[in-house]
Amino acid sequence: ALTVVPSRVATAAALPYQDPSLPVATRVNDLLSRMTLDDKAGQMTQADRAAINPVSDVLTYRLGSILSGGGSAPSPNNATSWADMYDNFQRQALGTLLAIPMIYGIDAVHGHNNVVGATIFPHNIGLGASRDADLVQRIGQATAEEVAGTGIDWTFAPCLCVARNDRWGRTYESFGEEPALVTPMTSVITGLQGKGILATAKHYLGDGGTTGGDDQGNTQVTEAELRAVHLPPFQAAVQRGVGSVMVSYSSWNGQKLHGHRYLLTDVLKTELGFSGFIVSDWAGVDQIEGGTGFTASEVTAAVNAGIDMVMVPNDYRRFITLLKQEVTAGRIPMSRIDDANRRILTKKFEYGLFERPLADRTLTGTVGNAAHRALGREAVRKSQVLLKNQGGVLPLAKTGGKIFVAGKSADNIGNQSGGWTISWQGASGNTTPGTTILQGIRDAVGSGTQIVYNQTGTGIDSTFRAAIAVVGETPYAEGAGDRTGAMGLDSTDLTTLQRLQASGVPVIVVLVSGRPMEISSQLANWRALVAAWLPGTEGRGVADVLFGDYAPTGRLPMTWMNTASQQPINPGDGKTPLFAQGFGLTYNGPSPSPSPSPSPSPSPSPSPSPSPSPSPSPSPSPSPSPSPSPSPSPSTGCSVTYRANSWNTGFTAEVTITNRSSTTINGWTLLWTFPGNQQVTNAWNATVTQSGQQVTARNVDHNRTINANGGTAAFGFQAG
Ligand code: BGC
Repeated sequence: ALTVVPSRVATAAALPYQDPSLPVATRVNDLLSRMTLDDKAGQMTQADRAAINPVSDVLTYRLGSILSGGGSAPSPNNATSWADMYDNFQRQALGTLLAIPMIYGIDAVHGHNNVVGATIFPHNIGLGASRDADLVQRIGQATAEEVAGTGIDWTFAPCLCVARNDRWGRTYESFGEEPALVTPMTSVITGLQGKGILATAKHYLGDGGTTGGDDQGNTQVTEAELRAVHLPPFQAAVQRGVGSVMVSYSSWNGQKLHGHRYLLTDVLKTELGFSGFIVSDWAGVDQIEGGTGFTASEVTAAVNAGIDMVMVPNDYRRFITLLKQEVTAGRIPMSRIDDANRRILTKKFEYGLFERPLADRTLTGTVGNAAHRALGREAVRKSQVLLKNQGGVLPLAKTGGKIFVAGKSADNIGNQSGGWTISWQGASGNTTPGTTILQGIRDAVGSGTQIVYNQTGTGIDSTFRAAIAVVGETPYAEGAGDRTGAMGLDSTDLTTLQRLQASGVPVIVVLVSGRPMEISSQLANWRALVAAWLPGTEGRGVADVLFGDYAPTGRLPMTWMNTASQQPINPGDGKTPLFAQGFGLTYNGPSPSPSPSPSPSPSPSPSPSPSPSPSPSPSPSPSPSPSPSPSPSPSTGCSVTYRANSWNTGFTAEVTITNRSSTTINGWTLLWTFPGNQQVTNAWNATVTQSGQQVTARNVDHNRTINANGGTAAFGFQAG
């Protein structure tokens, strides 16, 4: 008698699912018809690479997916060894009877951030400030090229959270605090997937809306609010054909998303028509019942709710045993298992895994290449938000004199990259190659300017023409970043700043942080403030803004609190922020510059203003004014802010004008912009009166209703 021994070589030629000329659906159905429950359970299982021991377990348990959780990296951590690791796992998967390739996922959330030498792009909060969906799409493409350069198929990005409370440790993973800011940035999905890397919209749903900004907390909102605030970006992601969606650890009104059949199946799959697969978050299934480790009933709840693949991530053997047990007992219908498999396999076919299962070694050179670093620099430029520029101290001249650079993040790639960089939490220090902000400054200035660096600010004196302080937050990720108390600068930064301020030299603060910080009590001491967010490896982009190679265009994607006790603070909530969402200055007045109206300017008050900036420098040491002085303030003069409490009732805005070159404001027009109400950028006339350095500007044309956002107006002066 003949014994039929299945052989990969024989099946490869013979079976319909391995025929690339057939439609994907046909291939999926054919493959599914050949799969046992063991095969199907394996496909639904994602294990962490560090937990897989021995490697042959990929074959034995027919694992459908592997991840590098928390960035766990091969050694050495470079593109080639990543590709070797990938192939090593993939060969095991290809050794199974049906030779179904595994799919490898990683958190490439700001570039391919686990790989030493990769281009690290700004975290999402900075990209949100750029408001440039095309840029974000190109970053998606570049990231995909670098991910492919290590053999990897899939990234757990983008995070589409709408971060409503800046206390949340994942605020920097958010493109903005409103769905209108996040939704356009789903363009990154098109970029990633267009280059063959499967994207993940995460974390579904309401991760950014938890009470107190608690990571993995409870989002207590009506369904109407959940849909209005948190759902739109996911809707857009589905429309863009996102391949996978990751479930949020959080709960909605007390019920864990990981067991939420209504939101996962009824809303996401049925109502929105999501045809990809749903993956759970790391050990998220374990949390459904709250205990430690996962139980059979948690597995059942998760799969029946609509989760297709479970990021186990450690005890994959037990998970598979429980899954099969629950199916055999009839508690999970076979139709659900088939649906999950169909969704996963469809993506594996669509992304070419059956045809090209191994790493493409010709692509390793994409990691950190010059084109991607140039794109990173562009992104950094565009993400900087100029929040204060008293007396037009910025941009700094590139020639002449001495500039002092200080601060714990001035020369620190790790700090400027934040969490999710090389390791899960990120780390201070030069963890991966790149250009620090200090190096960017050195590269930007001509040889005639001396840059003196001291991290703590020691050694400054009045002979410097400016001091640049790079301060802010140090790296963290997820719950480690939650802030329950103060949200201000640490004592290290305050000490550094104090030294700089005491010198009397104008202090320019570059804030490296994953969110707005409480700085209102410090702001008066600084001549300029730039929110740099977490720019990543291309620090030259920060210098581009400081030295005027790029006039800032970034605008706040988050409302900037006055005090931490205001959290949560969002548009329309009646709270008065320090800077409104949408606020951002440039070197030619408000950003974006409204078209100047032919200023009829009814403004009187030709009183001369001596006005050498009311800068509160404690020691007014008369600096010997190194020549030449910093670039003159642009022709529009100063660009100052400030606050209106209400849109509709009219208001008085008070500013301090600090334009050195102007002695009179007679004949100037006040230009109003309305952040948070993006289509409105009007130039309105205002009555401007002046008394000494105090200018009062009164809007005389306010009887138009401004779309409900409330908050802060920004304005600048246009010479009449
Ligand atoms: C995070 C996810 C991430 C996953 C895998 C989880 O802790 O919440 O955003 O994709 O880990 O690293």
